Amino acid sequence: MIIGVPKEIKNNENRVALTPAGAKELVKRGHSVFVQHTAGEGSGFSDDQYTEAGAAILPTIEDVYAIAEMIMKVKEPIESEYKLIKENQLLFTYFHFASYEPLTKAMVASKSICLAYETVEKADRSLPLLVPMSEVAGRMAIQKGANYLEKPLGGRGILLGGVPGTLPAKVLILGGGIVGTQAAWMAAGLGADVTIMDVSLPRMRYLADVMPANVKTMMSNEYNVREMIKDADLVVGAVLIPGAKAPHLITRDMLADMKKGAVLVDVAVDQGGCIETCKPTTHENPTYVIDDVVHYCVANMPGAVPYTSTLALTNATLPYAIQLADKGWKKAAQENVELIPGLNVIHGDIVYKAVADAFNLDY
Ligand code: NAD
Repeated sequence: MIIGVPKEIKNNENRVALTPAGAKELVKRGHSVFVQHTAGEGSGFSDDQYTEAGAAILPTIEDVYAIAEMIMKVKEPIESEYKLIKENQLLFTYFHFASYEPLTKAMVASKSICLAYETVEKADRSLPLLVPMSEVAGRMAIQKGANYLEKPLGGRGILLGGVPGTLPAKVLILGGGIVGTQAAWMAAGLGADVTIMDVSLPRMRYLADVMPANVKTMMSNEYNVREMIKDADLVVGAVLIPGAKAPHLITRDMLADMKKGAVLVDVAVDQGGCIETCKPTTHENPTYVIDDVVHYCVANMPGAVPYTSTLALTNATLPYAIQLADKGWKKAAQENVELIPGLNVIHGDIVYKAVADAFNLDY
């Protein structure tokens, strides 16, 4: 198969859909890989590394779309790319269709095949191509939180792990899924006093088994959250209710009970946030202060660490990309049912119900 890897053109997107190592695996199997000039630059991969791996470099995005049977990307195509997409072309990338109707309509009109990373699903209902980004965001939440707790950055000036003779900071994590678990490992490793709150008892039993002694678990409900935030130095919002907006576990009035200079990192901001006062921010301007509490609400946290994020994402996508390249999308989906829910649009038909429902389109 002929595989094309365009350079991402969305603002501030430095990831790339295929590493030189991934290109080598595909080339080894007899596929041709075409990478746009400087596509890997933002993640630290040079054109030379791709050519050494057996890929060819093409000068423009038009060249890549024109030649490829399968396009591998990171972010959804943006307006200027719509016209480049060809009938029957397979697009393997994040789409998040339900959040943007013009994209959905453009992909329907293109008659391409859209296989969305975010809806590839395993038998246990986990989403293997979303997990790596949650892992990155969870770990980063503590790095950022520790940073903003520093006095010059607006925080209360407490070191997360403390030092001998001082108490460590209290870290409260709302939601003990992928993001929450990774955040807990990082905070615990730095020596903080960590509490994870969740509504799932089985999940908390699991966490209690695997986490070190400085991580405790507690049932999440309004009463408990109100109590816990009074003492918290750093709160990480990591709640997800699949397909729904995140519930507001911390409401505006609760900020008054928090310590001056405490930090809130709401990772769930991309689903509306689990903190009422959270509004999406960017890496250029990541924080704001309300009632003396620092809010960090960057909607695309992994974007700040493109090297790690690219490797983490491609570790997860490459096995699927190989199946798609080896067998074509139809046979690959027949033989690996995890790919079936990934199919969102096929030759002008929307085949993923939630996307059709989002805009009252035919399914
Ligand atoms: P997950 O499904 O693995 O975990 C969510 C957890 O929330 C589950 O354990 C669930 O039981 C728990 N939960 C549900 N309701 C709760 C409640 N009322 N109180 C406490 N816990 C509750 O999800 P995840 O992969 O960890 O993702 C968490 C959020 O982070 C999602 O909104 C995701 O989109 C977001 N995210 C954001 C970024 C970013 O850059 N900002 C990056 C990756 C993921």
